[in-house]
Amino acid sequence: MSIPLKGFCLHGKQKISPSSGIPIMSNTKVVDLEIPALKQGEILAKTLYTGICGSDNSASLGKANFDWVARPRVIGHEFSAEILELGPGEHGDLKVGDVFTPLAMLGCREEACPACSVSKWNLCPNKEIIGFHRNGGFGQQVVLESDRVVPLMKGLTPAQGALVEPLSVVVNALHNKCHIKPGQDVIVTGCGIIGLMAAELAKAAGARVAITGLASDKEIRLKAAKERGFITIEVSPENSLSTQLSAGITDANGIPFGVLGKVDLLIECSGVPQVLSEAISVIRPEGDICVIATYGQDVAINATHLTRTSLNMRGSMGSCREDYMVAQKLMVTRVFPAEHYTNIYDFKDIRQAFEDSILANNVKAVIKMN
Ligand SMILES: [Zn+2]
Ligand SMILES: [Zn+2]
Repeated sequence: MSIPLKGFCLHGKQKISPSSGIPIMSNTKVVDLEIPALKQGEILAKTLYTGICGSDNSASLGKANFDWVARPRVIGHEFSAEILELGPGEHGDLKVGDVFTPLAMLGCREEACPACSVSKWNLCPNKEIIGFHRNGGFGQQVVLESDRVVPLMKGLTPAQGALVEPLSVVVNALHNKCHIKPGQDVIVTGCGIIGLMAAELAKAAGARVAITGLASDKEIRLKAAKERGFITIEVSPENSLSTQLSAGITDANGIPFGVLGKVDLLIECSGVPQVLSEAISVIRPEGDICVIATYGQDVAINATHLTRTSLNMRGSMGSCREDYMVAQKLMVTRVFPAEHYTNIYDFKDIRQAFEDSILANNVKAVIKMN
């Protein structure tokens, strides 16, 4: 008798918070996986490694911005997998045994779509995200469109393959929206994996980088940042970023960071509305803010201050194939040291991995799926 395939499944949408008294994993369970028949252009793959994204955590906690996800849903959009079977139709050069990572976002691919016509599926108004619109990488096998397959670059491990998607999101932001120059002072707000990746790529571009976190991040995520030479700033409502910058922050060599409490660029990765509201007060005139995070509510911005200081504020959404290629290269060439930030768990411990991620007891959880 063969062992049934398993998947980690979102099934409820209770609002779970520290004060709700509801156990944090109540909306999820591990289920037996049903594999649908392959449709035109689809492939079947064995999942190798899958990363837990902040959005997976938010969906698990029943946050309002993920109410639209149909339940039950096997989540997971950051993964590597090996092709087991090609369905009917054309699959280009793909063959059984190829190891790949999928484009998380699949565009409508209509010629008339302004985003898809320039291959920016991440900006398509009708894009579909694997693991939210259809079952994803927290199943031990997965069915997906071969259009979205990105074969792994030679030298990249399957575990690193699970980090290509989040790193590609940061590549898109830093290559296309940030324009960092050597010697600039950059602050990254938020020390989840997107923040840590942004810090690494800003440093690689020649900036001096500080990263913020909460007291609860001190022992693990800020520590991982410190080990990589970043200035770490623990913020709280009583001791905000702007207060600490105005009071004066120095790097490990005692050199002041920023000028008169202002820096060149801030990259917002926390998703906390107050952090973005505060951000414009710590940027020098004509400086930049890049927003990678999303927010559960509207964010108040002092627009007059924005005008008077001539700031540039840009958003950056997801990534496309081009960014995946750069992200892979950054890992094989070790510009981004994936292993420093990765915590691998076996599939049997997936619930623990989610709990640890939600409670910030790890840096980046990646599940070995089989
Ligand atoms: Zn994600
Ligand atoms: Zn489209």
